[in-house]
Amino acid sequence: MENIDRVIDCENCGTPSDEVVRVLRVYLTPEAWDTPASRRVLEDPEIWCISCITLYPSEVIGPIE
Ligand SMILES: [Zn+2]
Repeated sequence: MENIDRVIDCENCGTPSDEVVRVLRVYLTPEAWDTPASRRVLEDPEIWCISCITLYPSEVIGPIE
């Protein structure tokens, strides 16, 4: 049986990758003079490549099915 790696487009940068994971995107708001820093986690999972999760704030849920 042939084992063909699935290549999936990253939903963040659009690059096709065979190393993608399911993540929740995190929005970080830096502290300002009138507001404290905040961290907001989106509820809808996205599929990101490995380089995006090292470059952008996110919470890894796990591998895609
Ligand atoms: Zn990416």
